[in-house]
Amino acid sequence: MEYEIKTIGVLTSGGDSPGMNAAVRAVTRAAIANGIKVKAIFRGYKGLMDDEVQEFTTQDVSGIIQRGGTILKSARSEEFKTQEGRKRAWQTLKKEKIDALIVIGGDGTFTGARLFAQEYNIPIIGIPGTIDNDLWGTDSTIGYDTALNTIMDCVDKLRDTGTSHERLFLVEIMGRDAGFLTLNAAIAAGAEAAIIPERATVAEQLEDAIGQGRRKHKNSSIVLVQEHAIEGGAQAVAKVIEKEHPEYGTRVTILGHLQRGGSPTAFDRILASRLGVAAIQALLEEQRSVMVGLQNGQVVYVPLSKAIKQKKDIKDDKWQALQVLSI
Ligand code: ATP
Repeated sequence: MEYEIKTIGVLTSGGDSPGMNAAVRAVTRAAIANGIKVKAIFRGYKGLMDDEVQEFTTQDVSGIIQRGGTILKSARSEEFKTQEGRKRAWQTLKKEKIDALIVIGGDGTFTGARLFAQEYNIPIIGIPGTIDNDLWGTDSTIGYDTALNTIMDCVDKLRDTGTSHERLFLVEIMGRDAGFLTLNAAIAAGAEAAIIPERATVAEQLEDAIGQGRRKHKNSSIVLVQEHAIEGGAQAVAKVIEKEHPEYGTRVTILGHLQRGGSPTAFDRILASRLGVAAIQALLEEQRSVMVGLQNGQVVYVPLSKAIKQKKDIKDDKWQALQVLSI
């Protein structure tokens, strides 16, 4: 080994996602099981710069596997995007004698990790924790499955009232520039359509959705709108519909941060536990600047550069399924 890793730091960063706690627990326990000391870093890169660090024992991660959010807190930090900010972060690592870092977050977190690792020659392993599922090289990110189930439950409830009042519900779904959550939630909830950034123009998608609803003489329709598929999100789509199809009683529901909360599903807990253990294994195998992910049920190491740069495809069969099943 180039040099021995005696102490690791672990942090959660960017948007929180259900299952991050399960990952922190797994990292902590797997490290300690391998004789490595664990220092928890609070508030992501901000806490790393500000030296918000505490040594963790196995007991510190007791009773958290079922909890949503992150006990380490999360934060966004503009300062870490600067060289001065990252220098401060490096000074904390030196002071705390942290030899390697495990970062749990999304593509922004990994972008920062990659730069930091390059500049200061630090072993860093990324664990994908985001509800967006927009990282390349892993079939699922931690929190995605829980968010999907939360959205499905909310849409099921909306359908009850939508049917009673014969309305068109537009439901705005999170996802930055990725439509995975929206498309999969639409299939799971039996929605009439999904409007996502990866497909056609919004006007075309909308015409399809409305056209289908009319053809079927449905007395209620649910359309899931990815927040950034169109500027202004679901509200903007509602304005178009109200103008062109005033016959519809259109209602907008923005699920917002509801989508991030809640106790993680079994799938997310198992994924987080496997990836947490795999992250420590990756360090022991002298991996650097990789994300641990899951492909076809197997743990894989993916260079951070690929995880953040390559775009994951929306599966055509899923898109087709949604179209076919909403006739
Ligand atoms: P999610 O997609 O779930 O919100 P994320 O990890 O993509 O998660 P971001 O807010 O994009 O969330 O990134 C988290 C943090 O990573 C930022 O607040 C910043 O400190 C750091 N970061 C993001 N981009 C960069 C960059 N280009 N250079 C350095 N650090 C960055």
